[in-house]
Amino acid sequence: MRVAKETVVAIEYTLKDDQGNIIDASGDRGPMEYLHGAQNIIPGLEQGVEGLVAGDTKSVLVPPQLGYGEYSDKLLQQVPLSAFGANTPQVGMRFHAETNLGMRVLTIKKIEGEEVTLDGNHELAGKTLHFDIKVVSVRAAELTELSHGHPHQAGGCCGGGCGSGEGSGGGCCSSEEGSEGGCCSSEQPAQKSEGGCGSGGCGCSH
Ligand SMILES: [Zn+2]
Repeated sequence: MRVAKETVVAIEYTLKDDQGNIIDASGDRGPMEYLHGAQNIIPGLEQGVEGLVAGDTKSVLVPPQLGYGEYSDKLLQQVPLSAFGANTPQVGMRFHAETNLGMRVLTIKKIEGEEVTLDGNHELAGKTLHFDIKVVSVRAAELTELSHGHPHQAGGCCGGGCGSGEGSGGGCCSSEEGSEGGCCSSEQPAQKSEGGCGSGGCGCSH
């Protein structure tokens, strides 16, 4: 079976930047499973996998516009230190927050005196991504998977497609409650959403 819309695909991957540094790899986590055609993963990677069969390997080059977007200064904002209340912010800290673009992951970029600069860009924004992938399996999606918009194996309900950061709508992880230490806490940069999932607990019945 070839990778096409409405198939559930499992891939192993290594992700490198322009300098050849490894940013992420499926490695010990095991293959990443996703529902093809449901925007579970970034568009450039999805296009690269299209038409492959189990056992195929491929190098896929993903430009920023088909990955995590261009870096935008518009996503920088300043907030007063006092906004953090009793918490002590530190550069590099990341957290979910409601912004005028919806729920996003914000990173503390700079702290100067009483002013804290927050960066709403994805950490991989502006980067060209170099994927080396191997297709592990391809199967037809089941009806419930199609209606949920993600696969139902390996990692539970959110194995492939929840949208915490970007608010992908639908999907079992779209509610803010779910992201509180729940299903959207682990990182999986190949996936489109800010948080890859897998620890369950997001109210999807299967
Ligand atoms: Zn589900």
